[in-house]
Amino acid sequence: MLVIKCARCGKKAFKYNKIGHGKVLRCYYSRIKKDYSKKDSDKIVCRYCGNIIGIDDGDCIKMNQNEFTYTGTKLNK
Ligand SMILES: [Zn+2]
Repeated sequence: MLVIKCARCGKKAFKYNKIGHGKVLRCYYSRIKKDYSKKDSDKIVCRYCGNIIGIDDGDCIKMNQNEFTYTGTKLNK
């Protein structure tokens, strides 16, 4: 499980069940376990500082690579 955090304020955005060792480019809603983020039309923003973490893309979030950090472990396939 990864904890995705806002790169600007360092607070949690959501917990994500990442499978595989690739980069975190997209986060699928079905694998988000705990969501602290806020949705602002098609943008996924940090609820604490308003930083735009990603863009809604249907069944997933396209992550803004410079606007988040993460800790935790990715699952092997
Ligand atoms: Zn923030």
